[in-house]
Amino acid sequence: MSGQSTASDPPDRSAEPFTYNGGRVDPGESTNIRYGISETYLGDPVKIPVTIVNGQHPGPTVFLSAAAHGDELNGIEVVREVAHDWDHTDLYGTLVCLPVMNVPGFLAQERYLPIYDRDLNRSFPGREGSTSARRMAHRIYTNFIEPCDLGIDFHTSTRGRTNMLHVRANVDDPEVARLAKAFSSNVIIAGEGAAGTLRREASEDGIPTITVEMGEAHRFQRRLIDRALTGVASVLAEFGCHRDSSVHWPGWRTVIDDDNEKTWLRADAGGLVDMKRSRGALVQEGDVICTITNPFKEEDEVVSVEAPFTGLIVGVLENPVVYPGNPLCHLVGLAAETKLALERERTTERSRSDL
Ligand SMILES: [Zn+2]
Repeated sequence: MSGQSTASDPPDRSAEPFTYNGGRVDPGESTNIRYGISETYLGDPVKIPVTIVNGQHPGPTVFLSAAAHGDELNGIEVVREVAHDWDHTDLYGTLVCLPVMNVPGFLAQERYLPIYDRDLNRSFPGREGSTSARRMAHRIYTNFIEPCDLGIDFHTSTRGRTNMLHVRANVDDPEVARLAKAFSSNVIIAGEGAAGTLRREASEDGIPTITVEMGEAHRFQRRLIDRALTGVASVLAEFGCHRDSSVHWPGWRTVIDDDNEKTWLRADAGGLVDMKRSRGALVQEGDVICTITNPFKEEDEVVSVEAPFTGLIVGVLENPVVYPGNPLCHLVGLAAETKLALERERTTERSRSDL
């Protein structure tokens, strides 16, 4: 538990310690904590890993959190690399790194808390004396979220689907919008988020917070992780934490709001899906996105699913089986200039798998 020094020079006098219930981390120190948020059926503690990196210099306190859904792994690696592989010698401010918030779900490799299948990411800010999920959320929130000035919560698509890397944020709040843009994703989906999500509750509490969606559950996807690390570096530059870094411009950006056409295309037939397009693909109206066939591949039974409008595939099915009504892909319409910028980019060497 004792802190490791992040640098040899003495810290600025104006830099402040980070305190939580049970401890403190002084400026210029980095500490790994296993913090108890609940107890198991055996009465043993349920502890979440937390790393606090308190810089030598004063600055904002930023949280980076992942695995609120226990099987969404990409963000864990992003948070770990920032906490343990980056050089924070000249950090202005404090990083609160929460790589695995939903420890019971993580151990079971499940999205929800395995206790009555509660969703930790609908339980914030939590409450003492309430359900097990809300008590856990409360312990996390009061100790490690409330002391922060801004935050990034990492997610992936639900199991069986994949997302291109994008930000979800309530861009009507100027500070949230600043954070969302600083992360430098190509796509920002506007919206306040569901009640009980970390990003909505923290943002409403005056702690601007965004969600980053990236890839699929149960995987470490290296290119997406690298892309997200670029986003974190860009945010730390924008908010003055890493003064030698610069804010990254993603080349093109679209903010998807209520004015954009967008839809989850759903299957109208049950069967096996032959997906023709991947996440990040630009499709033209009428393009075939996938076909659905029965086990006999009977030609007159093939259902062809076409794009109802020209747009970008933000999320797409990976597991190739559907019931009628199951989602096939998340398609969003784009403004003309965004379409042009995207087409230009696609003619260069950059591959879609970066998205
Ligand atoms: Zn999630």
